[in-house]
Amino acid sequence: MDLSLFFAGTAGSVPSARRGLPALLIRRGADRILIDCGEGTQRQLVRTVGLTDLTDIFLTHLHADHWLGLPGMLKSFELRDRERPLTVHGPPGMTTLLERLRPVYGRPRYGLTLRDLEPDEAVRRGDFEIVPFAVRHRGVAFGYALVEDARPGRLDAELAERLGVTPGPDFGRLQRGETVGGVRPEQVVGEARAGRRIVVTGDTAPTDAVVVAAHRADVLVHEATFADEDADRAALTGHSTARQAAQVAADAEVRMLALTHLSSRYAGGEIRDEARAVFPETEVPRDFDTIEVPLPERGNPVLVRWDSGRGTRPAADAPLQSPA
Ligand SMILES: [Zn+2]
Ligand SMILES: [Zn+2]
Repeated sequence: MDLSLFFAGTAGSVPSARRGLPALLIRRGADRILIDCGEGTQRQLVRTVGLTDLTDIFLTHLHADHWLGLPGMLKSFELRDRERPLTVHGPPGMTTLLERLRPVYGRPRYGLTLRDLEPDEAVRRGDFEIVPFAVRHRGVAFGYALVEDARPGRLDAELAERLGVTPGPDFGRLQRGETVGGVRPEQVVGEARAGRRIVVTGDTAPTDAVVVAAHRADVLVHEATFADEDADRAALTGHSTARQAAQVAADAEVRMLALTHLSSRYAGGEIRDEARAVFPETEVPRDFDTIEVPLPERGNPVLVRWDSGRGTRPAADAPLQSPA
């Protein structure tokens, strides 16, 4: 199952010439999940991967830089004759706010549901779920963890055959926990393998809530609005510095840290260098870059740079190359 993160906007607070306001598109199989929808997100998507029929939208909090692109996008879906229903989820207060904007986007025929979530109220979608958790920002703000279900353990085919099981459907039965011809699953099937875990913080000061939610995550997308020289300003505004985000990633033992929500005063290199001094497996995606997240046994997450001519190409400076 393919799983990737497309960075549609990597700026914080105000857009710059190179970076749009926050929006992250998670693509997993046929699912298309958007986390935050800053002003201009439609255009960011249209000029790159296309304005895809999103399956769910999750807002981290109600600061304008994180949702102002939503009313226009909801309207565009209507104009494009979208048929699939859409749910927008967010922290308490989101529904009230978006209901006030009904005159802008009306009552779309495709069926729009607005849903306030409580912390830890998981939203299940097939074989994964999205779990909101409270972070530390000004006002109520959520991070989100995308958590895949555990996968069945690996089957020792050679051993199963020696015990008299015929390769084919019976192998599947064993993997699903059934006894076949007197052979019990625990004799031939290894331990269940963890699914992938992606954690997106939204805006937050450094907090243990992220360390817990992101424990051994495949990718932690953490905000790094400031560099450490502006640590006072970060504390005052409920944001993190690159060094602080890197410390959180190290404490959580994640496989890759991706920093986003950069203040327009930084180009990116200084943020990356500061974080890598603490946590080497750090990337600072630019707008339209993608992080591919393979299953753990197939290699590490890898940053793929956007190339406007050819779509995407592997990052020349990516420190984490997949061996597969
Ligand atoms: Zn923000
Ligand atoms: Zn904010």
